[in-house]
Amino acid sequence: MTTQPIYNFCAGPATLPREVMEATAEACRQLEGTGLSLMETSHRSPIFQEVLDAARQLLRELLHIPSDYTILLLGGGASMEFCRIPANLLRRRAAYVNTGVWAAKAQHEAQHWGEVVEVASTERDGYDHVPSQITVPSDVDYLHYTSNNTIYGTEFLHEPEVSVPLVSDMSSDILSRPIQVERHWAIYGGAQKNLSMAGLSFVILSPEALAETPRPLPSILDYRVHRAHGGLFHTPPVVPIFCARQMLRWIKSQGGVPAMERMAVERSRLLYEVLDESRMFRGMARRDSRSRMNISFRIDAERLGGDTTKAAALEAEFIDYCAERDVVGIKGHRLVGGLRASCYNGMPLRGAERLAECMREFESQQIRRGRL
Ligand code: PMP
Repeated sequence: MTTQPIYNFCAGPATLPREVMEATAEACRQLEGTGLSLMETSHRSPIFQEVLDAARQLLRELLHIPSDYTILLLGGGASMEFCRIPANLLRRRAAYVNTGVWAAKAQHEAQHWGEVVEVASTERDGYDHVPSQITVPSDVDYLHYTSNNTIYGTEFLHEPEVSVPLVSDMSSDILSRPIQVERHWAIYGGAQKNLSMAGLSFVILSPEALAETPRPLPSILDYRVHRAHGGLFHTPPVVPIFCARQMLRWIKSQGGVPAMERMAVERSRLLYEVLDESRMFRGMARRDSRSRMNISFRIDAERLGGDTTKAAALEAEFIDYCAERDVVGIKGHRLVGGLRASCYNGMPLRGAERLAECMREFESQQIRRGRL
């Protein structure tokens, strides 16, 4: 691994603390003195069982997950859970909030399993905010929301105030703030942003969520089958689970979720401050919905006489400018364009400072060149 830090703002797979990546790489070479690589170690060996138990226990401890909740670490990623969640939890009718492409995909998959009511949507506004108030029919099984909208840079900083159980895709902000777990039937997501590497999903399930079997399911889709087999119904992704344990240990060593939250607040504050002071960059999300994890912004074409081509060219130039300064991964999602800085739990404060410096310096350079 290079010793020169490269600050990687990629939206996922995403940066992890160096010690987490190095410990995982070392385990792939040799697992804790066994002479075997983690990659060739049986998922049924005592040593792997310890890794799995520790990962689940740390997640329970750090998020204050009640002891009667089930924690599953499974292969598949968030998109797999878009299917498994309604398959297991949707009994008759479920409410979904459409706050972006991922939320819409979750909603689409649910329609295979029962009636879906879209109770709020911000699509018409280009998904630039999350709804502040959501009204939900009282007869739905649950309300599904995407706590952080990775592509647009919007986030629910508080759980929606409704009287039905919540289900949340927390792929892009898990462990970055405290959660009212008891209000949720399920919390799930892909691990490759805040918790581990790609190939793993986390699923946290309340006893009520699993109390009824709405329909017969193929075993691989059935959370109860996974629970009955202690999460080892089939071979789980052993390397990502090891990586998750290392990441959870690291989070604990930093001071747990409160420390992650302080870091998230500080990193995003630094970047939004630059955006708010800038004559050239503009934040894309509405202020009241700004995400701490994905800061979406662009070069404001209005400042360039409405010339969108020029703005796009300057954005490309800014991406190169950053790359030359070891700041990478800031190109916006292809659906929305612009720029995006994803700052997950593994992003050091110094990374956000470095990007903020790049933004300020690049803008000054443009002003000196008379381009603004
Ligand atoms: N939900 C959210 C909020 C996401 O950001 C993503 C991926 N970027 C997904 C779901 C899909 O995750 P996966 O690729 O693990 O299926």
